Parts: sequence; structure tokens; C-alpha cells
Amino acid sequence: MLEFKEVRKSFGPLEVLKGVDLTISKGDVVVILGPSGSGKTTLLRCLNFLERADAGSARLSSLEVDLRNATKKEVHAVRQKTAFVFQNYNLFNNKTALENVMEGLVTGRRIPKEAAREKARRALDKVGLSDKLDAYPVQLSGGQQQRVGIARALALDPEVILFDEPTSALDPELVGEVLGVMRQIAADGTTMLVVTHEMQFAKEVASRVVFMDGGVVVESGTPEDIFGRPKEERTRQFLRRVL
Ligand code: ATP
Repeated sequence: MLEFKEVRKSFGPLEVLKGVDLTISKGDVVVILGPSGSGKTTLLRCLNFLERADAGSARLSSLEVDLRNATKKEVHAVRQKTAFVFQNYNLFNNKTALENVMEGLVTGRRIPKEAAREKARRALDKVGLSDKLDAYPVQLSGGQQQRVGIARALALDPEVILFDEPTSALDPELVGEVLGVMRQIAADGTTMLVVTHEMQFAKEVASRVVFMDGGVVVESGTPEDIFGRPKEERTRQFLRRVL
């Protein structure tokens, strides 16, 4: 249902993505692992047009777009089908948790306010924040703010949710609650593409693990394949360092 083909991206002389191919099926939880600088975040950002790729395409169900030359209309269409959870939450500080979740529904999806409020309530309930609807981001812990970020993505009913290192800005004691919510929405059948350094999450929740290094997919497989019997030396080296 989501397919990347030959995605390339350089920043000046730095070639960050050197032709990435990746396929994600409906209901899959695909975790991308790899050393810092290997291009994981850039790949996600190219899909959502937060960066313009130099070449390559993506297919989301029946929608095929050129990641370099997509028109405004195509960019909009891709954004309608995807949602992004950011490392630093990216919440509006002057809006409550409920308003933060409603915002994309009202302005992006053009859903009437009352229906948006109801959807936002349900999404916040799912992430365990029913009692924080009227709280502003400053009144929430990092873990709670990120759960609002996840609720905002969920409320959009996207075909796939892209998570960009969702726990790496959190104090260690707050990581568990966010991973718990991600685990739960994975169990609900949400299609998820997750860039993370959380190896335990990858082992336990991923249906497929993709190892990237130097701007390419080095190998991919089930968590058992990648953690138990990696084929490539680069994967083995990486795992020795992080496990
Ligand atoms: P990490 O795990 O550290 O987040 P990553 O695999 O997600 O790493 P990217 O964030 O995709 O890596 O970055 C890949 C490389 O591209 C890095 O060297 C980074 O400094 C560089 N880079 C990313 N965005 C930009 C940008 N907007 N301008 C210039 N260089 C960039």
C-alpha cells in the first residue's frame, strides 16, 4: 500500500539517499533502524514533502507521485493519506490538547467543528488523555505532549502514520508510555512506518525491520531475521554497537 521507488536526495555535496526502495503492506509496522546520518529521517520527510527528493517516486494505494516533481495537488493528496509524528511533537503552544488535535481536522480535512471535536476527543481517549483535553502543552509532560502528537495523527485516519524518532526527545522515564501507546495502535492494525533507536520496540512490535546505512537499505526482514541472523556484515556491526 506504500511503496518507495529509487528515492534519491542530496544536501549540497552530501548524498543522503542513494536510491531507496521500500514496500509497506497494509497493517504492517515497519521499523527503520540505522546509524545516525544514514538518511532515515530524510526518507520520511521526502514522502511528506517536508523535503523535495532529487529523484524517485512513491505509491500510496492507487496514487503514484513523483517525489521530485509532484504538483501542489499531488502534495495535498499525499498529505491527506499520511500523518506525521515528530520528534519534537510540533504542537501549537497556544492551543489546548483538544484544539491541537482538532486543528488538522478542521483546516486540513475541512471537517465541521463539532464533528472534529468529537473525533479529537476519541483520539485523545485512545492515547489515555481524556482528562487533559483542556491542558496546554506547557502543562503536559513530554510523554503526554507526544501522546497528543499521536492522537493528532490518529484522528486524521491516515492510510499510514510516519513516526520520526518519536521518543528521542523524551526523558528515559517517559519513553515507556509513548511506546505503550504505539504498541496499542499497532495492535489495532494501524499501518506504521517508524524511525526509532528503540531496539526493544523493533523486536517486539515490528512486522518488518529495515536496516539503512549510507543512504541505502542494506537489508530488511522480520525482527527474528534482523536481530537473530543478520545477513550483512554492516548490520551485524551496527547491532553489536547498539545491543
Ligand atoms: P539520526 O538517527 O541521527 O536522526 P538519520 O538517519 O535520520 O539520522 P537524517 O536526519 O536523514 O539521518 O540525515 C542524514 C544526513 O543529512 C545527515 O548528515 C544530516 O546532517 C544531513 N541533513 C539532513 N537534513 C539536512 C538539511 N536540511 N540540510 C543539510 N543537511 C541535512
